[in-house]
Amino acid sequence: MTLSIYNTLSRTKEEFHPIEPGKVKMYVCGPTVYDYIHIGNSRPLVFFDTVRRYLEYAGYEVQYVVNFTDVDDKLIRRSEERGIPVPELASTFIEAYLEDAKKLGDENVIHPRVTENMDEIVSFIAGLVEKGAAYESGGDVFFRTKAFPKYGQISHKNLEELQHGIRIEVDERKESPHDFVLWKKAKPGEIRWPSPWGDGRPGWHIECSAMAAKYLGETIDIHGGGEDLEFPHHECEAAQSEALTGKPLARYWMHNRYLNIKGEKMSKSLGNSLTVQALLKHAKPQALRFVILSTHYRNPINFNDDSLQQGEAGAERLNNSFLSLVHRLQILTESKSGWVPESEEALDAILARNEHDGEDESVQEASRAVREFEARMNDDFNTPDAITAMFDLATATNKYLLVEQASLTVLQVLERAFLRMDSVLGLLFEQEATDDDAGIERLIVERQEARRSRDFKRADEIRDELAVRGILLEDTAQGIRWRRK
Ligand SMILES: [Zn+2]
Repeated sequence: MTLSIYNTLSRTKEEFHPIEPGKVKMYVCGPTVYDYIHIGNSRPLVFFDTVRRYLEYAGYEVQYVVNFTDVDDKLIRRSEERGIPVPELASTFIEAYLEDAKKLGDENVIHPRVTENMDEIVSFIAGLVEKGAAYESGGDVFFRTKAFPKYGQISHKNLEELQHGIRIEVDERKESPHDFVLWKKAKPGEIRWPSPWGDGRPGWHIECSAMAAKYLGETIDIHGGGEDLEFPHHECEAAQSEALTGKPLARYWMHNRYLNIKGEKMSKSLGNSLTVQALLKHAKPQALRFVILSTHYRNPINFNDDSLQQGEAGAERLNNSFLSLVHRLQILTESKSGWVPESEEALDAILARNEHDGEDESVQEASRAVREFEARMNDDFNTPDAITAMFDLATATNKYLLVEQASLTVLQVLERAFLRMDSVLGLLFEQEATDDDAGIERLIVERQEARRSRDFKRADEIRDELAVRGILLEDTAQGIRWRRK
């Protein structure tokens, strides 16, 4: 079963074959860090993280780069408004981004920053000037679009169309109105870096070309971003890179559609807070992941209170099924001393098999669900149908949990199927951070001390508090034992 990806370049679904077998190099344009990230920005974050997860699930070693634009016009403007230097402002919002991203399950990402790659950016531009693909004009450097006949390949626009389609301001410094800036001359008082063309800072597009080349190489496998980046940003990136190296920047270009917000409906429970940070104070990150992944990435999402409630309810249903399964497994394994669990490899082999003669029907259903999940994900990352496969697994699990004499093997097969799918979808809840084992042990010791000093009121309080947190206590001959409900 091969993975197919809709490639913006060809406007068709193509079979995915990486440049180097077993390895994937992926670059996704990251945020301009002048503010907290908006719910809309969470879509590329969650979706491309899911792509990264699925590629890893499929056995690829993935190198995943998401840049931080930590100097640009917006940052400079905000820095002036607030009287905070650009680097300080940027670090504040980089930290905030990383916190949000971690909550949303984003992992294994390399995050280069523009300001830490200035040498590479300047030498990239110098290379273009040397090749005649760029020119200096009054301290600015522009890309010469005429020198790159393939300009328009990503967005499928041609230069004449562009001329008629949009109003282009006349800029006497440019040879052609389509030429775009690579290096901007610093205005008085602005943050600046030295270059052969005088002090200034890079234009927006050049950073991605330079950082993709530095961190991943001249041609990468997948380049992603939101639909708004198709033109001009990705068009310009592709032109700059290919003009310099003579090789295409990326083989597969992927673009996610927008997540739109219905402002008036959102205000009901969330106020006007449309940042991810604010949203995650009210909602579980898994609920937001559910909302994003239950629509195919090439369809728009209309986000409102209802969609968030549906996300909560959907994630809750999957979690209830999974937690009941885990609970049943715990009880059963505790009653069997010396029991050794099946290895992950053995369980995966059962799930991968087509034939299940003589095995429990639930094993068949779990295996069918996993194979369905993979088939849907292989079809251009069809996450909504992959979630449906996870619900099929939950249905099979709920049915099996009604059996009085459950088999440990069947329970393990079901659990493994859940964990495999969730390694990609990330919809199962994690244990509360407050439920740390050390904290629980401390409370148990405190309760024992309270009982010794005959403070039964305090002892009962602690027992109730632990019960609320889902911790069950058992008095055994060896002392107090505890477990999660
Ligand atoms: Zn970019």
